[in-house]
Amino acid sequence: MFKIQNYINGELVAPINGKYLDNYDPSVGEVYSLIPDSDSADVDMAVKAAKEAFPEWSNLSNEQRHDYIMAIADGIESRFEEFVEAESRDNGKPIKLARKVDIPRAKSNFKFYATAVMHYSSQSHFMSEEPAINYTLRQPLGVVGCISPWNLPLYLFTWKIAPALATGNTVVAKPSEITPMTAYLLSEVCKEAGLPNGVLNIVHGNGPTTGEAIVQHDDIQAISFTGGTKTGEHIARIVAPKFKKMSLELGGKNPNIIFGDCDYDKALSTSVISSFANQGQICLCGSRVFIHESIYEKFRDDFVVKVKKLKVGDPMEGDTSLGAVVSKPHQEKILLYIELAKQEGGKVIAGGNAVNPEGRCANGYFVEPTVIEGLPFNCRTNQEEIFGPVVTLQPFSTEEEVLGYANSVKYGLAATVWTQDISRANRVAQNLHAGIVWVNCWLLRDLRTPFGGVKDSGIGREGGFEAMDFFTEPKNICVKY
Ligand code: NAD
Repeated sequence: MFKIQNYINGELVAPINGKYLDNYDPSVGEVYSLIPDSDSADVDMAVKAAKEAFPEWSNLSNEQRHDYIMAIADGIESRFEEFVEAESRDNGKPIKLARKVDIPRAKSNFKFYATAVMHYSSQSHFMSEEPAINYTLRQPLGVVGCISPWNLPLYLFTWKIAPALATGNTVVAKPSEITPMTAYLLSEVCKEAGLPNGVLNIVHGNGPTTGEAIVQHDDIQAISFTGGTKTGEHIARIVAPKFKKMSLELGGKNPNIIFGDCDYDKALSTSVISSFANQGQICLCGSRVFIHESIYEKFRDDFVVKVKKLKVGDPMEGDTSLGAVVSKPHQEKILLYIELAKQEGGKVIAGGNAVNPEGRCANGYFVEPTVIEGLPFNCRTNQEEIFGPVVTLQPFSTEEEVLGYANSVKYGLAATVWTQDISRANRVAQNLHAGIVWVNCWLLRDLRTPFGGVKDSGIGREGGFEAMDFFTEPKNICVKY
């Protein structure tokens, strides 16, 4: 069985304790490789290597760091199909999605930050009353920890690593233990690209052991974490008294608001995608669809017709719309929420069941795209994050009412608004509790924009110069003359 290795100090190495975890292919329900079950000894070794690499790496010119990081992007490009297949197999996502979104975006993350660092500048403040000039340095923090989830494995992993490296930090990173394969391929690419030893270290393993060892480590200056709200809360408790910098990108329960004057066909087709892309396992998916009462019945019926046409099946087949969900426990969790929805009085109008496709994927973890109506806005199904192919539909009559529903959850990551009325679009967008609002579109991403959530969806922002600000410490120097 293929054994994934850690990447520490430029070498691919086995975990010190010799222990491994099973890595499943969720589309067939079988273990296909083994992951290091690393512990604090491996993390210590990685931090030591990162600490030793820091002085030289941080003293390189921006252009030199740009060249290394671009070489990593080129390395991903040169092994593109290998990355695509690995991501689809490890996660269960349709291969066409990995080819169109995950791997191109991982490559773009490196390109974006390699070039961004060439344009990153700091402030200066001139004082005329007491002739003096203040200039603010933005200095790298040192060794930083990056921890990412399983839903967009390489995409989110590199979204942290790229700005951290570009700004001169060295990194100890942990991908999700559920989807480690493309992070492993990335470590091979870094070796091939000649990245200096210790600059990036990738330690595989479980959250409470490997992840927590990173979070706890006193030589790690900042934690950038993406994952569940409960985990974020736990990490915050550890990190806060240590006064480390912390960025937390957490869960969501995003509203998708459809007004009667929307561009109907566009709203309908995009809402199907924003509900079920990546099996609904994108933190930005809209899981509560609010539809104006003037078009509720028509929209609901047309939505269900489209959803029933989605093909659930082998992620490797080109016409598959939904692949497997990421694991057996996750499949069970989603099915439990569908049961809960029924107990709460919801009516399942599409899907609702596990699926066993014929052939190769008969034992995989599949769930039908599921649409539920008839639930109150404040029931558990409409308040808790399910993170699967399950959406609820709810009618509304006024702007005020729908804002109340949309903002009733503890989360505040993203929202989508569909209307042709520009004033209403702006008004509603401004009043939504969300870090990101899309008007008449969904998941249209410009990497320069701030990315993150409010309320229990986290603290801090990624993206653009926000991430570079996070990974640097401002130091003001005042010079009197
Ligand atoms: P998770 O919180 O279970 O795990 C995320 C990562 O944290 C994994 O690498 C895991 O090993 C690690 N981890 C777990 N316990 C830890 C601990 N005690 N100390 C340190 N690390 C620990 O989340 P998940 O199930 O992998 O991902 C799904 C969640 O991620 C969903 O809630 C989703 O909304 C969220 N998410 C948020 C965003 C965003 O940008 N806001 C993006 C994607 C996913």
